[in-house]
Amino acid sequence: MKVRQIGAVLAASVLTLGLAACGDSANDSDSGSGGDASGGTGKAVKIGIKFDQPGLGLKQGEDYTGLDVDVAKYVAKELGSGEGDITWVQAPSAQRETLISTGQVDMIFATYSITDKRKETVSFAGPYFIAGQDLLVRGDDSSITGPETLTGKKLCSVTGSTSAQKVKDKYPGVQLQEFGTYSECVAALVSKGVDALTTDNTILAGYASQEQYKGKLKVVGKTFSEERYGVGIKKGDTALCEKINTALTKMVDSGDWQKAVDANLGPAGFKVDTAVNPPKPDACS
Ligand code: GLU
Repeated sequence: MKVRQIGAVLAASVLTLGLAACGDSANDSDSGSGGDASGGTGKAVKIGIKFDQPGLGLKQGEDYTGLDVDVAKYVAKELGSGEGDITWVQAPSAQRETLISTGQVDMIFATYSITDKRKETVSFAGPYFIAGQDLLVRGDDSSITGPETLTGKKLCSVTGSTSAQKVKDKYPGVQLQEFGTYSECVAALVSKGVDALTTDNTILAGYASQEQYKGKLKVVGKTFSEERYGVGIKKGDTALCEKINTALTKMVDSGDWQKAVDANLGPAGFKVDTAVNPPKPDACS
């Protein structure tokens, strides 16, 4: 019994040490990349992003890339924080409101659509990009051509997303399977556990263009919603919202927004809807 107890304590402390070590190494590299003007010389800021969405928010080792990451870095810099001042926090779809309202992040740039429902809990600056909901299917599937062809099919999406909500509201005949992240849905689609994945066309294009999925997955290409990506912030912080909107406007006017869009969405061959992009930020409230 005694030995078992010691074993449990040891196991617990190893776990704690392991977690602490992870936290430390993340911090080290985040603050350690500084040194130049954009380094860790300003105000510390915690930014929520996706970790598994190529072209938008992707963590590879200690590298963070994607359009959300580039817009976040630009805004952070305008607000007085260099890259070395940023701690990147994973913000899965269902956890975004909680991460903001509990102060675990200061801002969220995570393919985060502005909606009235979410505005009950958080506020938004932006939008800084407009996407649309679409479908990803296997390369050899010609039976799924839009949401109205999904009846009886297995569709994957993510808990807490507008994508899953839309299907529940508008296409009740579809068998919806909800996971915590879109990369889990991609794995299920490839292994034929589901027939399709639905979310924003930006995200789907990123997966479809990944080397290992080339030819295996295709985006249907018929959007059926408007997803306005905002910057999630604490509810009612209009001062911060104004500052972020000023930074976003500067990013567009300087050409840096276009550069970031081309660099991050270009490789996937994503066609930006220029009728609505770049969007003008909404008034802060
Ligand atoms: N833009 C949609 C949303 O905010 C879908 C993508 C996501 O889950 O991040 O819910």
